[in-house]
Amino acid sequence: MTLSIPFDNSYARLPASLFTRQSPQPVTAPELLAFNRALAADLGITEGDNAEMGRVFGGNAVPAGADPLAQLYAGHQFGNWNPQLGDGRAVLLGEVVAGGNRYDIQLKGSGRTPYSRGGDGRAWLGPVLREFVVSEAMHALGVPTTRALAAVATGDTIWRDDGPLPGAVLTRVAASHIRVGTFQVLAARGMTAELQALYDHVVDRHYPDVTSPAGLLDAVIARQAELIPHWMSVGFIHGVMNTDNTAISGETIDYGPCAFMDEYHPNTVFSSIDRQGRYAFSNQPDIIVWNMAQLATALVPLMPDADDAVKEFTAAIHGMGPMLQANWLRRFAAKIGIAAPKSEDLELVTSLLTLMAHGQSDFTNTFRALSGKAAVDQFTDRDAFRAWETRWRKRLETEDDPVRVMDAANPAFIPRNHRIEEMIAAAQTGDMMPFERLMNVLSRPYDDQPENADLTRPPTENERVMATFCGT
Ligand code: AMP
Ligand code: MG
Repeated sequence: MTLSIPFDNSYARLPASLFTRQSPQPVTAPELLAFNRALAADLGITEGDNAEMGRVFGGNAVPAGADPLAQLYAGHQFGNWNPQLGDGRAVLLGEVVAGGNRYDIQLKGSGRTPYSRGGDGRAWLGPVLREFVVSEAMHALGVPTTRALAAVATGDTIWRDDGPLPGAVLTRVAASHIRVGTFQVLAARGMTAELQALYDHVVDRHYPDVTSPAGLLDAVIARQAELIPHWMSVGFIHGVMNTDNTAISGETIDYGPCAFMDEYHPNTVFSSIDRQGRYAFSNQPDIIVWNMAQLATALVPLMPDADDAVKEFTAAIHGMGPMLQANWLRRFAAKIGIAAPKSEDLELVTSLLTLMAHGQSDFTNTFRALSGKAAVDQFTDRDAFRAWETRWRKRLETEDDPVRVMDAANPAFIPRNHRIEEMIAAAQTGDMMPFERLMNVLSRPYDDQPENADLTRPPTENERVMATFCGT
C-alpha cells in the first residue's frame, strides 16, 4: 500500500505575507522509528510501508496534495518582545479534515527556513521522542494537546552544547499552529488587512459562534482558563509559556523543557534557562493572563474604536483570574473526591497541598493513594495528615461517589522525567522497547496496571532530573 494523506489546505490560501512556501530539507538516511496508527486512522491517512513513511515523515519526499510552508509569527519570550520568530525548523505540510475538524500536519526538525535566524533547523532524537511520549500521554490524560503522528531518525549528526547527537524529525498534528504570536506579528507591523484575514480564518476554523474580536478574546480566554488548571491538576509544567507557545485553539503546544512534577512543590521549575522561575508550576495561571493581555493588545486594531476596545478587553482580562480560580478549584476538588465544590472546599484542598509541599510528597502517588489506604505513607508529618484526613472524610459524607470522582481525576501513570531520560538513552543505542512500553502504559493512565507498578515509582536521588534543557 502507498501512504496517502487526504490534504485539504487552507492556510496556504491566506495572504502571502503570513508564511513562506518552504519544502522540508532532505536528510541522509531516514528511518521510521514510530508511527501512531490509531491517530493516522482517525485522520483518514492510509499508511504506506516503513521506507516510504520514513521518506515522507523525514522530509525526503513531499506527499501528494501537500503545500509545504513555514508560518510567520513573533512573540514575547520570557516577557521580552521578539519581533520575528516563525517556523525556524518546522514546515506545515498541509491540513486534513476529519470528523468535521481541521488538523495541521507539521514536520518539526525538517531543516532551515527563512525564519531560522541562527539555528540549524533541526531537532535531535531526545526532544523528538520526549514530545512524542509527553504529548500522547497528555492526550490520554484528557488534556487538550497537539498530537504525535510519526518520528523519523535522520541519520545525520547535529551539534548541540553537549556535543554530537543523532537527528530526528517529529510529525506533529494540531487543531492549528496559530499562536498568540501569529496575531502579534501582524498587529506590530500594522498589517491590519492580514490581521483581519487571520481573524476570519481563526473564527471559521476554531470558534464559529464568535461574531467579534471581543468574542474571540473571550473564547480563547475561556479555553486557556480551562487548560492551565487542567495541566496543574496532573502536575504538568509547560516550561516555556511564551506567547509564541500559546495556541489560539486552546491546545497544549511546544513541548520543550516541560515536565511532570514528581514531589510536589509550587515553585518547581524545569527549564534550565528559566532562572527567575517565571514559568514555575504555580505561576502558570498568572502567565496565561499576561499572555491573553498580549492577545488582547493584538486584537485592538480590528476594533472600530481603540479606547472602547481597551476598556472592553481590560474587563475581559480582569475576569480571567476568577475563571482560573474556579476551574482550578473544580479540578483539585475532584482530586479529593468532591464533584461540585463550594468555596469553603478551597481551604481543604490548599491545606492538603501545604502538607504535601512540607513532606515532599509525590504529587501523583499521593492523590492516587487517597482512594486507598496508604496515603499517610506519603507524608512526613503523619499526625498532621491524619488530622486533615478526619476533616476530609467528614466532608465526603455528603458526596455521592467520591472514589469514582477521585480515580477519574488522579492518574496512576504520568511520564516521569527519569523514565523519559532512560527511554531516550535506550533509543540512542537503537533500543525502542522502553519507548514502546511507555507509550503503551501511558495510553491508559487512569487504569491500575499492577504489572507496570515500577513506572509509578518516583526517582531516586541519582535518577532525579533537575532540568529538562531547552535542548531542542
Ligand atoms: P521554541 O523555544 O522551541 O518555541 O522556539 C522558539 C523559536 O526558535 C521558534 O521560532 C523556533 O522555530 C526557533 N528555533 C528553535 N530551535 C531552532 C533550530 N534548531 N533552528 C532554527 N530555529 C529554531
Ligand atoms: Mg515554539
